[in-house]
Amino acid sequence: MARIPDEIIQQIRDRVDLVDLVGRFVTLKKAGRSYTGLCPFHGEKTPSFNVNPDRQAFYCFGCQEGGNAITFLMKIENLSFPEAARALAAERGIEIPETDSGERGLAERLYEANETAQTAYRAALAAPGNPALAYLAKRGIDAATIERFGIGFAPDRWDFVAQRLHERGIAAELAERAGILAARPSGGHYDRLRGRVTFPIRDTRGRILGFGGRALAPDQEPKYLNTPESPVYRKREGFYGFPMALDPIRRGERAVVVEGYFDLIALHRAGVEAVLATCGTALSAEHARDLRRRTKQVVLLFDGDEAGQRAITRALEVLLPEGLRVRAAVLPAGEDPDSFLRGKGAEALRGLVDRAAPALDRVIERALALGCATPAQKADAVAAVAPLLALIPAPVERAGFEQQLALSVGVEARHVEAAVRAVQRGQDPRDAVPIAARRREPEERYIEQLIRCLLEHPALAARVPSAEIETLIAAGPLRELLETLVAAGGQGPRSDLEALCERLEPPARSRLRSLAATDDAPSEATAARTVDDTLAVLRKRSLRTQRQALKNRLREPDADADALLGEIQRLREEPAGTKPSRLATRHG
Ligand SMILES: [Zn+2]
Repeated sequence: MARIPDEIIQQIRDRVDLVDLVGRFVTLKKAGRSYTGLCPFHGEKTPSFNVNPDRQAFYCFGCQEGGNAITFLMKIENLSFPEAARALAAERGIEIPETDSGERGLAERLYEANETAQTAYRAALAAPGNPALAYLAKRGIDAATIERFGIGFAPDRWDFVAQRLHERGIAAELAERAGILAARPSGGHYDRLRGRVTFPIRDTRGRILGFGGRALAPDQEPKYLNTPESPVYRKREGFYGFPMALDPIRRGERAVVVEGYFDLIALHRAGVEAVLATCGTALSAEHARDLRRRTKQVVLLFDGDEAGQRAITRALEVLLPEGLRVRAAVLPAGEDPDSFLRGKGAEALRGLVDRAAPALDRVIERALALGCATPAQKADAVAAVAPLLALIPAPVERAGFEQQLALSVGVEARHVEAAVRAVQRGQDPRDAVPIAARRREPEERYIEQLIRCLLEHPALAARVPSAEIETLIAAGPLRELLETLVAAGGQGPRSDLEALCERLEPPARSRLRSLAATDDAPSEATAARTVDDTLAVLRKRSLRTQRQALKNRLREPDADADALLGEIQRLREEPAGTKPSRLATRHG
């Protein structure tokens, strides 16, 4: 690529506003004369990333990255210096004179080869009567969608694209490096994607890196074939759908990740545009870093089969260390996003994405499904999830999931914590869970913790909906105590312990005295969080119990199956589960 003159570089740096540029990737807050935000180049919870508008310079006190607008764009979009400078120049309307050195970079020539192939594929698809059009129509893909996604067709001939490239003066050797053509052992080249529907894989700037191809003939193997890696196409980094997803991801503060081309198109047709597809590879650490620079939240939408479930776990292994919040939408078994859209409609598919539960909930549910009745099964369930929890960098978040896992499995939280620490030290997490019977219900510990928070900070009682207590906690002294505390509202039990005791039955009274005697005093903020977390965990547990009760009632001879199934589905979809099920409580 031709060298860019210094005065042009200076013009770019003068006319690009760094605060504006950085602000597209990082939420900035004004602090004195400069701006601060969370560094996009390393994971952090408190902002140490600074932008100085006077000097048009940025600097991170955490990882020491620093520079100007051009270097910022280079780092964040993974561009070379000339690429970043040209991108900014184009945006600001600065013309770069082409000093004709004749020799263009290899990357430029590969992009050109790919664009030429793209033109040929699209023309081939537009040709009437070709089998690809009928195939796409059968999958519900119309002309506008074909246009929008640049879908094309490589005819089932050995030399269709080779000829078009040759006519445009593109050497077969270059097309081979781009991956469009493959070399024959006997000499010469053939079209790699022949007989396939083609999808161009573009980078954030819209340049074509490579292609994906879907077989048309039922017996053609493999079903999906991509062009191989090239000097411009690295599969550990590429996403399908990038240029169209950039703005929606920024605006919606989340990115939906799917596995295939048709899945991504299905989501677009359902109105979800913040979506990226991995191209025939699992999510890599590079993908995860790229996502983290653009968003805080990722929603995984994988197939509803066993492989899809395993893919969620694999994705968590790379996404969690980046500090990303990961949700997982679960499709019914045997469905993919495309088939689900065609069967259930756009609104249903959108709802599935919007209501996606934390992915770790799914993993915990799956671990429980293998059974957790015996102590050994409990140890197995904890050991199955602990390695993922060990990857969560934020202690508060990790503790929340540890608590949830402990409560779901029915072990004490400290055993889960020990299992997570064991993983971090490279030891067997199974050893951390004692096989002996435990002393108390874990649920009790959480309710005690909740009550202690209310004793210390009576105002927090307002966070506990009194009508809900009955559904969340089994009858007994602790429920009585909590109901009384919440009913007392903001009145200070600390100073008024005796008055409170008056209102309680003896067992609850002695529980209150022992709880009030413990002297851990969390700050109000910590206590508030504990109250909320504990309620969330109790709600989840209660939902599960309600579902089980409904399932048991399904087996009764006079069961109204439709009403029960509807109710079970409603409970499944209710994320926080604030409303108790009327059907579940009718008998008791
Ligand atoms: Zn940094």
